[in-house]
Amino acid sequence: MEFIRLRGIAVSPGVALGRVRVTERLVFSAQREPIPPGRVKAERARLEEAIRRTRRQLSLLRSKIRKKAGPDHAFIFDAHLMILEDQALRSSLDRIIASEKVKAEWALSQVNAKYRGIFESFKDDSFRQRQLDVYDVLVKIYRNLKQKREAKAVAGKRILVAHDLLPSEAAGRLSRGNVLGLALDMGGTTSHAAILARSLNIPTVVGLHDVTGQVKNGDYLILDGTDGEVIINPPPAVRREFESKKQRYDSYRQELRRLARMPSLTLDRVRFRSMANIELPEEMAMAQSLGAEGVGLFRSEYLYLQRSSLPDEEDHYRVYSQLARAAHPAPVCIRTIDIGGDKALPQLKIQQEPNPALGLRAIRLSLKNRDMFRTQLRAILRASFLHNIRLLVPMITEIEEVGEVKLLLEEIKAELRAEKVRFDERIPFGVMIEVPAAAAMTDILLREVDFLSIGTNDLIQYYLAVDRSNEFVSHLYKPLHPAVLRLVRFIIHTAVRAGRRVTVCGEMAADPLAALILLGFGLREFSMNPIFIPRIKRVLRAVEFRTVRRIVAQAMNLRTAQEVEEYVTEKILARHPHAFLRGGAD
Ligand code: PEP
Ligand code: MG
Repeated sequence: MEFIRLRGIAVSPGVALGRVRVTERLVFSAQREPIPPGRVKAERARLEEAIRRTRRQLSLLRSKIRKKAGPDHAFIFDAHLMILEDQALRSSLDRIIASEKVKAEWALSQVNAKYRGIFESFKDDSFRQRQLDVYDVLVKIYRNLKQKREAKAVAGKRILVAHDLLPSEAAGRLSRGNVLGLALDMGGTTSHAAILARSLNIPTVVGLHDVTGQVKNGDYLILDGTDGEVIINPPPAVRREFESKKQRYDSYRQELRRLARMPSLTLDRVRFRSMANIELPEEMAMAQSLGAEGVGLFRSEYLYLQRSSLPDEEDHYRVYSQLARAAHPAPVCIRTIDIGGDKALPQLKIQQEPNPALGLRAIRLSLKNRDMFRTQLRAILRASFLHNIRLLVPMITEIEEVGEVKLLLEEIKAELRAEKVRFDERIPFGVMIEVPAAAAMTDILLREVDFLSIGTNDLIQYYLAVDRSNEFVSHLYKPLHPAVLRLVRFIIHTAVRAGRRVTVCGEMAADPLAALILLGFGLREFSMNPIFIPRIKRVLRAVEFRTVRRIVAQAMNLRTAQEVEEYVTEKILARHPHAFLRGGAD
């Protein structure tokens, strides 16, 4: 039997093995079918009936997906129900049927073409996305006209293979509980289908180009959502190999789920908090399922980077309030944009800079573009009414910048009070410590702010003069460099002594050994990519704070990163032999 291996993008981890179901691609047939003038009324009634059925299906899907994947994923159906009731769209359909004397199917395909034309003339990506939503709704009506049921579940669980999945299709099909895995020709990491699949724990590989052309219904498939591979009709030996990979992954996953529910306490009952770094509001449900106790860093730049015009206050507000509600009562720390330098923002026509890492980025850019910054701050303040939002400013280098932000914040607060808009009067205000100058000023900065967040990714790059993304010097990028550890220890000690909250939100917090060292320094809040939360929680739960503090204090007299690594690992293992997973699985 033929045996094909395809490579794609792994977007939802896990391994699936099973038979394939290929979903047909949704297209309007371009047939123009005339009707006799006397049938116009009946044709309109047929369309009405299809719309009614669509409405019922959408409402059903909305409540089903809300239950299975959380409210974030149900929003899409509110939008679709609104499109369905849109007067302009409905009267266009009626008009085409009546004036051209054609079947409703033709009217739908014409209206779809019209909307595609309109939306494509917009430069804004979010408008283009809306075209997809309109298409999604029209296709649903079309199917209902044809009396085609949404492909009823074939008996048994299958691996779904499709060219692409429209948002409502993804929600409808993936929430049925009979999908073992998902393989798509199209798609990227942040597509709706990918995000939903992650929330529902369905292993998924996208960007396979032509998987639909290579498989047929009933073929046997291996889908590896961890490494981004799809194997069609594998021989028994390959099948066995992946069956055991699946077993290993599934038991690891079970362990994660168990850990997510365990309290965040060290053996001597010191409480710590593991939080999530996220970039999309849709990541929230997954983060919570992995045990995130709030969002330690919301990288708000995604709001700017995913579109070609600037987001307005409502765009910001919608996202921040959604996050605050989803996390409540846990905190959500919203970082104002960290854009500029190498992260281009076409909407602002940022100049090319010779040395972007040292250029007009983050708070420097925000203070140069006051209107844009104001818009974001207003939205953050408005979304703070649930009292669980923290405001964080990146790349602070000098006290004057803090002063400027605080002034602006006070102005906006006064505005909101005058407008009688509710917000958190005592919204915690913090700064990132990621420039060495700010680190040296920790004690003075603490007089101005409520909390600190240490961005070790940048702090290490600036302190060691090693570009964090330059592979030629990556061997010099050492989070355990004694100079880095001494600096971070100083920041944490100073904050703890001042009784202030301090978080580490750089990658360092996600490394088990580094996290132990941070714990030893007195850190209690660790924020990281949510997929690393379980392993950090596991290692911190496996040790005694007192012991770690003692070992780490000793290690601060060592000379090199390697010495620190060897010493701490050896001493911790001597006291807690099970702190790290064997074989480097940590
Ligand atoms: C950091 O610098 O450590 C950080 C968390 O911010 P970013 O990675 O977004 O620069
Ligand atoms: Mg940074």
